Amino acid sequence: MIPFVNLTGQREKYRFELEKAERAVLDSGCYIGGAEVSALENELSAYSGVPHTLTCASGTDALTLALMTLQLQPGDEVIVPDFTFIAPAECCAFLGGTPVFADIDRETLQISPESVRTLIGKRTKGIIAVNLFGQCAPFKELRKIADEFGLWIIEDAAQAFGATVLEPGQDPHTQTRKACTFGDISITSFYPSKPLGCYGDGGALFTANEALAQRARFIANHGSVGRYDHQIVGVNSRLDALQAAVLRVKLKHLDEELAIRQQNAAKYDAFFAEYNRTAPAGAKIIPQKIANGNTSTYAQYTVLAENRDAFIQKLNAAEIPYCIHYPASLHSQPCFTASKQNAAAQNETEMNTADKAAPKVLSLPVCAFTDVQEIVQRLKTN
Ligand SMILES: *Cc1c(COP(=O)(O)O)cnc(C)c1O
Repeated sequence: MIPFVNLTGQREKYRFELEKAERAVLDSGCYIGGAEVSALENELSAYSGVPHTLTCASGTDALTLALMTLQLQPGDEVIVPDFTFIAPAECCAFLGGTPVFADIDRETLQISPESVRTLIGKRTKGIIAVNLFGQCAPFKELRKIADEFGLWIIEDAAQAFGATVLEPGQDPHTQTRKACTFGDISITSFYPSKPLGCYGDGGALFTANEALAQRARFIANHGSVGRYDHQIVGVNSRLDALQAAVLRVKLKHLDEELAIRQQNAAKYDAFFAEYNRTAPAGAKIIPQKIANGNTSTYAQYTVLAENRDAFIQKLNAAEIPYCIHYPASLHSQPCFTASKQNAAAQNETEMNTADKAAPKVLSLPVCAFTDVQEIVQRLKTN
């Protein structure tokens, strides 16, 4: 059976480097923080072009730490995408804030700046924008709105470490900006199946603002500014040295892997373009649109299948694995439906774009150790 994400294939390829790095940490006696973690933070900063990187225990923790650093208060509203993993909305609610769900673009499936604009009110403090499935959210438009209303932006790049955006008017070969540079604070996740994953939980925060970086570091370390000097209420959120060592190995290969992911996606693009030419009405398969100037990390290859049940039957017959990212809009999740600020849930009769996308989305395997040629071949013969 083809795995959805081929982590064992990846480990096989890097085994020598990984085992050497893992053994060095296990033999060092230093398991929390220390040189491996600092070295990784410096390498992540150098890679993404962000001055300050702070690793932590997970992508979800990174979001919570970002919101605490930006001093979210109970009752504050944060605009989040209605169609994504739950973490951005959850972290906001966990801290007593109110997630307000913005609708998405029909083609890119990213948070819609027009929808964000309509949701801004007296209590709105910021926007969490997710780089969904691996391409950056529309930050140019979002930043304009944030500046106009004095809001902060958290960039959730959990699925998109290494994604790029072309800066307008510049040479396409040299002037690209990387994910994790667009938020006042940006975050990523090192969950094993993410484009840059470790062998357990892990995450990181990125910021160009030194004061925010310092505050985030205090909060992640029990609010201590010095040993046993706790100035603010914090948490314990750290990346293990062992995970840092694994990530340092994988980071060296990231660009090579992203290039293969993009080639894999191009194979699917070509296949579905042909497929749609002869598909009966109502059975087209439409890949997530990649916005002009964006490159995607393809955390997964996600399509909108007009007749998803029929397509799933075909995948099952061909023994091709798939996932549903995501089966429902966040505003319709039971944990959020009672909120008065959840306008979409109060207005049950009108389906938004997120609700319309949820029954159609389907993700296919695309990682650098997946044989997409084989998958395409199976699709052709089933
Ligand atoms: C995976 C993910 C997270 C959470 O990361 P964890 O490391 O699993 O806590 C947050 N946001 C998005 C968009 C994600 O895909």
